[in-house]
Amino acid sequence: MCLLRKISAFIIICCLLISTAIIESASYSTTTVFGHEYVDISQYAKSKNLQFSFNSRTGDVLLQSKWSKMVFKVDSRMASINGVVLWLSLPIAQKNNDVFISPIDIKTAVEPIILPPKASAFEKVNTICIDPGHGGKDPGNIEGNKYEKVYTLMLALELKNRFEKEGFKVVLTRTRDKFVDLNQRTRLANNSGAHLFISIHFNSSNTKSVKGIETYCMTPEDAGSTNSGTNNSEKSKMPGNRNDAKNMLLAYCIHKSLVKTLSSEDRGIKRARFAVLKDARIPALLVECGFMSSPEDMQKIIDVAWRKEIARGIADGVKDYKKQLAR
Ligand SMILES: [Zn+2]
Repeated sequence: MCLLRKISAFIIICCLLISTAIIESASYSTTTVFGHEYVDISQYAKSKNLQFSFNSRTGDVLLQSKWSKMVFKVDSRMASINGVVLWLSLPIAQKNNDVFISPIDIKTAVEPIILPPKASAFEKVNTICIDPGHGGKDPGNIEGNKYEKVYTLMLALELKNRFEKEGFKVVLTRTRDKFVDLNQRTRLANNSGAHLFISIHFNSSNTKSVKGIETYCMTPEDAGSTNSGTNNSEKSKMPGNRNDAKNMLLAYCIHKSLVKTLSSEDRGIKRARFAVLKDARIPALLVECGFMSSPEDMQKIIDVAWRKEIARGIADGVKDYKKQLAR
C-alpha cells in the first residue's frame, strides 16, 4: 500500500513536470502563409491565455484579456487595440479556417501594449526633449499665410509649460524661428540627457476633408513602413530600433490620450523611418497634431486654447507611459 502510494505520488509528480514543460514550450510557432512568416492567432491566444474568436463571415478576429481588447480583420493591416487604431506591418491572413498574424506585429505592436516592457532599475522618465518641427528657411506646410514652423514652436512652448508644471524637465531642439538640421535634432536629443523624444508636426493632404491625429514611431527592423505598403522592408537595424517596444508603448499612450482629449479623428499609430526617429537612442515618436489643409483642423490649430488641450493630451500620455513601465 505504502509502495503503491509512493509510486502514484511519483507518477503524479512526473505528470506535473511533463505538463509544465509542455505549457512552457507552448510558445507560438511560425508557418509560411502567402510567402510570409506568420503565427496562428488561435495558438498564440492559447499560449497567452487570451480569449480568441473568429467570425469567418465578417473576417473579424477578436483577442481579449482582462485588460486589453484587440480587433483584427482578415486581409487588413488596420487593427484596433483598446479602441485605438494601429497599423500592422502585414495584413492578417486567412488559410482555410485559421487566421494568422505576422510575428513582427506580435513582437513590436501587440505585445508592447498588452504586455508592456518594464523600466530597468535605473531608468527614469523625468526629462523630455521636445522637437518643434521645421524652422528658419524650412517653413514646413504652408496654408495661405500660415506656416507650420510657427505653430509647431507655439505648441512646443505650450507643451514645455505643461511638462514643467507636472514636474518634468524639458529640453527643446529650437526655441526660436531657426533652421535646425534633422540629424542635429536627434544628436541634441541623444546628448541632452533626455529620456524621451517627442517631435511635433502638423499634417497636410490634397484632400481638404482629411483631418485628425496621426502618431508615428520607428519602423521595426525587417518591416515595411505604414505609408509605403508592405514591400519596403529593411533588414538593417538602426539605433532607433533599440527601443522598438518602448517606441510603440509611448506612441500608443500618447496617441490614445490625444484622440480621447481632443475627440479628434483617429488616423492611427503608424510606422516610418523618419530621419529624427532613425537615430534616436531614447524612446521617440513624431506626432502630427492635425491637418493644416483641413479648414476644420486649421481653425483649431490657430486657437491657443486648442493647443493647450493638445499639450494636456501629450503630457497625460507621457504620465500613462511612465505608469505602464512600472506595471
Ligand atoms: Zn512637418
